[in-house]
Amino acid sequence: MHRIPLIMIVSTDFAGQVRGKGFPASELDTRLDKGVGWTFTNTMINCFGQIPATPWGPRGDLIVVPDTATEVDVDFGDGSVNERFYLGDILTMDRQPWDCCPRNYLRQTLKDLNDLTGLNLVAAFEHEFVHRGQADRLGDSYSQDGVRRIGEFPEAFLYALAEAGVEPETFLPEFAPKQFEFTVKPADALTAADRAVIVREIARGTAWRLGDTVSFSPVVTRGAAGNGVHLHMSFQDADGRPATHDADKPGGLSDTAGSFIAGILEALPALVAVTAPSYMSYERLKPNSWSSSVTNLGYRDREAAIRICPVSDVPGADVASSFNFEFRAGDAASSPYLYFGCLVRAGIDGIRRQLPTPKPTTSDPAGMDAAARKDHGITDLPTSMEQALDLLERHPKAQEFLPGEMLSAYLMHKRGELSMLEGLDIDEICRMYAEAY
Ligand code: GLU
Ligand code: MG
Repeated sequence: MHRIPLIMIVSTDFAGQVRGKGFPASELDTRLDKGVGWTFTNTMINCFGQIPATPWGPRGDLIVVPDTATEVDVDFGDGSVNERFYLGDILTMDRQPWDCCPRNYLRQTLKDLNDLTGLNLVAAFEHEFVHRGQADRLGDSYSQDGVRRIGEFPEAFLYALAEAGVEPETFLPEFAPKQFEFTVKPADALTAADRAVIVREIARGTAWRLGDTVSFSPVVTRGAAGNGVHLHMSFQDADGRPATHDADKPGGLSDTAGSFIAGILEALPALVAVTAPSYMSYERLKPNSWSSSVTNLGYRDREAAIRICPVSDVPGADVASSFNFEFRAGDAASSPYLYFGCLVRAGIDGIRRQLPTPKPTTSDPAGMDAAARKDHGITDLPTSMEQALDLLERHPKAQEFLPGEMLSAYLMHKRGELSMLEGLDIDEICRMYAEAY
């Protein structure tokens, strides 16, 4: 069949969904400058494709202008149409960043961090997902057979990611039935968020070409382990030297890293409304599920909200360059830009106030009495999206975390999404999110 190549320019909205517009490849030069038309209310389309409420109605115009550094043009080698898109920034008609552009929000936030500290963040998002095509076998957790049973998917996925400029690190079978995990090499923070968007699209694109689907929904199978999106972070100074580790300090964290973490954990009961922003997210954020349910900094603990990750214990090992911490109370219902951006905004607040490093936990917080919890700065995370949104709205710094119109529009978006679930039973809700994500 004869074809004209089609290129899409896309952005991610408040639902973390990737939406955009396309044009014939021959128009690329013009479109790199002019972008594609967009409208305010597009960001209010929720994960179910509905707009229960919007502050803007049908009025107003914007443009999405591509960033050439994010070009994806992948030929899967199977005769299918190439995956061709650019990630873009949403600008106003006078070409200023739009208040509610998630990508610009993260970029601006990283600049604020750098202005305050002189430091940059290096980061990597880890994704868990369920492959819905294979017949599973009892007891397949982490198994060789689990990988075999999804056939070409892992290798085609790795190939496509490498072609898209995303540097694969690992692909592994996870604990739950048909669950897998993909990790990518660390990069500068904005690139890390771009890669998270690309990873999800390429996973869908690979599965679709093989006649399958994948789901990143926080809980695809009720009762089984959920799908987390974890974020590894470390600081670098202007010369690229590691700046997260201080062997003499609590948890091995430098004062700046410790204050950054303290700011995040203090605000976390409100921030999960952004990092874990769906009804199903709270089916995952439960005790004893290897995700997180309280605001602790944990030493090598996979149920901590922030985990101090393992480094070599061999004497003389270069610890500083691999030292990093991992935020775990997030999932793929969140836009990677909003997820990362709100954590950095709270971290900046912690650095400004020079908060002390939270005392790292080395045992299960569930077994702690009130005094020990207080000593470790532990509070419970909300147990529903509704509660999380209320905590965000009431947080004295909410407007600082989500500046400008973003806060009120975001709350409206998410409450509209929840209103669509009223009266539905949880299995139906689970099914809807599994399809949407
Ligand atoms: N599936 C767990 C989560 O929901 C994470 C398991 C792991 O440590 O990789 O976050
Ligand atoms: Mg995992």
